[in-house]
Amino acid sequence: MTWSTAGGPGHTRGDGAVSAHAPAKVNVSLAVGPLREDGYHDLQTVYLAVSLLDTVTVRRGEGLSVTVTGEGADGPDPVPTDRRNLVWRAAELLADHAGVAPDAAIAVDKAIPAAAGLAGGSADAAAALVALDALWGTHATRGDLTALAAQLGSDVPFSLAGGVAIGNGRGERLTPVLARRPWHWVLGIAGGGLSTPAVYAELDRLRAEGRLPDGAAFPSPEPVVAALRSGPVEALAAALANDLQAPAVSLRPALRRALRGATDAGAAAAVVSGSGPTVAALAADEDAAVRLAAVLAGEGLFRTVRVVHGPVPGARLVG
Ligand code: ATP
Repeated sequence: MTWSTAGGPGHTRGDGAVSAHAPAKVNVSLAVGPLREDGYHDLQTVYLAVSLLDTVTVRRGEGLSVTVTGEGADGPDPVPTDRRNLVWRAAELLADHAGVAPDAAIAVDKAIPAAAGLAGGSADAAAALVALDALWGTHATRGDLTALAAQLGSDVPFSLAGGVAIGNGRGERLTPVLARRPWHWVLGIAGGGLSTPAVYAELDRLRAEGRLPDGAAFPSPEPVVAALRSGPVEALAAALANDLQAPAVSLRPALRRALRGATDAGAAAAVVSGSGPTVAALAADEDAAVRLAAVLAGEGLFRTVRVVHGPVPGARLVG
């Protein structure tokens, strides 16, 4: 059975292009275990896919090329357009798996800010897998794409799956959760990114100094999952948790004011998303989210704010 809902010619436009969207994620909860000998940490997270989408468009080409537009395309530390870009590696991996030549021109249009704790690069990689599967007619199964995604990065399988899921291992071992109730958030996006490895290193440092608990035992994800399924908003607000928040705040002290600013402005709760610096502020409903975004935009605590909802589906073809 092929997984792509309608891969192949059905999604090839007149100009031969195929596009796929993939969503940003928020870690509604994120528990980080102690540093392992191999340098990694075990995680337990509850992922939520939200309605901030990158679009990856692929066309036939000779060899691989990548262009980037939108968030992170310019500035002092632009998103790379060479093989350091995760979509490049996604293309090579799928081509290798399918035994086809890795020939494609890949255009990444980013709405998800880079290095923001929103898994933007992972979303692009997942969208590239889906779009290239259709362009090349490789008919990869869902299982194939998930296995390739796990090789690309720990958040990539979730970018492919979307919805709500518990993530274990480094985040790549997913248990999907059926939770259809929509949740409304305001994402407060900072002016500069935070490096994920730097935030983990700061967590290890603060733990080694005894300033944070060692993370040896994971709390049960059940209260988070139950709150996501049926609310009320106060239950979800109480369940938000992120072990990377303290180290992110330590590296970027302005985050403390941003988190307080979000709750002062009416958010039910606010948490740093993943390794930050994005602040995910939970609102009671859609109207409350729009009002919250207006207040936060006026206060200038963030470079920009986005009203989003989730869960939304994972990477899928456009059209
Ligand atoms: P992580 O997945 O490490 O938690 P993040 O969600 O905070 O990261 P990303 O937007 O995925 O951040 O970017 C992390 C780094 O990955 C960037 O600084 C950039 O150099 C590199 N990168 C590679 N490909 C991409 C891409 N398609 N979009 C954004 N960044 C990319």
